[in-house]
Amino acid sequence: MERLSGRVALVTGGSRGIGAAVAKRLAAEGASVAINYAGRADAAAEVVAAIEAAGGTAAAFQADVSEAAACAALVDDVVSRFGRIDVLVNNAGITRDGLLVRMSDHDWRAVIDTNLSGAFYLSRAVGKLMMKQRSGSIVNMASVVGMMGNAGQANYAAAKAGLIGLTKSVARELAGRGVRANAVAPGFIATDMTGALSETAREAATSSIAMGRLGTPEDIAATVAFLASDDAAYITGQVIAVDGGMTFA
Ligand code: NAP
Repeated sequence: MERLSGRVALVTGGSRGIGAAVAKRLAAEGASVAINYAGRADAAAEVVAAIEAAGGTAAAFQADVSEAAACAALVDDVVSRFGRIDVLVNNAGITRDGLLVRMSDHDWRAVIDTNLSGAFYLSRAVGKLMMKQRSGSIVNMASVVGMMGNAGQANYAAAKAGLIGLTKSVARELAGRGVRANAVAPGFIATDMTGALSETAREAATSSIAMGRLGTPEDIAATVAFLASDDAAYITGQVIAVDGGMTFA
């Protein structure tokens, strides 16, 4: 089923983990995909090659989303290459974990700048284009931590909670112009980000998941593709947890 045929998608942090799976899934559904990365040009090139080998269209774009000017240039570059942007997936993210009383200003700012401000800079630039087009879908990669909080992740939880507020505000502002904005809140997903955790931490996390397993990047990509597509035409301002039953009330 090619739900995204003729559409152009920009996926930030598309070189690895969840973003790579999202890029591949959107391409498989017919979208031309702009894959943004920060430093891992090799990983981004691999994702582009995999998409092209499967008959899809993709190109890699380096940009540090924590910088406003880099985000503006990224949007210009993608539009020069593909002509428009129909889907924006704000997925790039980092962790700099530490207990509150020991957290440095640097680690606080790094996480807020990348995980929250990056999504703002790109939503602002792409939102302008989408308003003119009178169509578009923005999907922000939040986290269940943005709803629950997490010891050792004050910076990350604040950024993800902020992303949820940003999503809802953008949804309200742009709905009248045919532009939707939603957030996906993954639970515990097997990627490089969670790969660094100890076996004990991993077992503790798994025991809190009703379905008894970690999620895969593909589990998240399926929900992003749905929200990006017209199947979600009447859905905006929502946060969808994809967490194997980790957080439901
Ligand atoms: P990951 O495997 O560590 O990959 C992070 C991606 O973000 C990479 O493509 C990286 O690019 C890119 N990136 C990092 N800083 C960037 C910057 N300043 N500018 C542009 N790109 C940047 O992470 P992941 O686990 O797939 O996580 C993806 C998203 O899902 C994040 O927002 C994360 O917070 C969220 N999430 C993950 C989980 C989980 O359990 N894994 C749970 C909830 C939410 P390079 O390859 O160039 O470094």
